[in-house]
Amino acid sequence: MSDPAVETQVLDRYECLACGYAYEPDAGDSKYQIAPGTPFTELPSNWRCPVCDAKTSQFQNIGPTGKSSGFQENLSYGLGVNKLTPTQKNLLIFGGLGLGFLLFMSLYGLQ
Ligand SMILES: [Zn+2]
Repeated sequence: MSDPAVETQVLDRYECLACGYAYEPDAGDSKYQIAPGTPFTELPSNWRCPVCDAKTSQFQNIGPTGKSSGFQENLSYGLGVNKLTPTQKNLLIFGGLGLGFLLFMSLYGLQ
């Protein structure tokens, strides 16, 4: 007798917000003698991040293994607003300087 609901259960991983260590439920944690297959939520209360000793409250659920959150991929998008070439930037800078110089000279000439 086996329970298929248990066998197909995918355990969530939890990532340490302090150091980036990810607890893998499938692997357990040898430092604290946590058996493989132990969910993060069933870790003993004295369990700490094996890397930086952060408490379990410092961990966030990052989902099951192999499932990307998609957050990292989205970081590179949305930054395409300012795509001026160096030449265009120089034109803007020197054009602005030249305009300021002309303005200055015209004011100077009025005196
Ligand atoms: Zn940590």
